[in-house]
Amino acid sequence: MDCREFEKTIPEYLKKNLDYETMESFWEHMDHCDSCKEELSIQFLVLEGMKHLENGDSFDLDAEFRNRLEMSRRANKRRGMLMNFGQWVLTFVFFLFGCAFIIIFG
Ligand SMILES: [Zn+2]
Repeated sequence: MDCREFEKTIPEYLKKNLDYETMESFWEHMDHCDSCKEELSIQFLVLEGMKHLENGDSFDLDAEFRNRLEMSRRANKRRGMLMNFGQWVLTFVFFLFGCAFIIIFG
């Protein structure tokens, strides 16, 4: 993912519409591109700031932003682990079938 793609992805990220693969490359890019991270935080602040202003409640946007990053990072990690686990189970089942096949017909 390059900077232009990243920028295009930001609104989707904020709407939580990213799939696992996109999320991974999104993080990867953000981890070593400060200007994109900055851009993301600005868009987040604008979006969330508006919401809070409409509701008239008090808020700590900076903390919220860091929270949001942390939460979505964790959620994506969990998703990745589940996917890996699924693949592992699938491999294991195939392995068992292979063994059974060899025992029965071998
Ligand atoms: Zn960038």
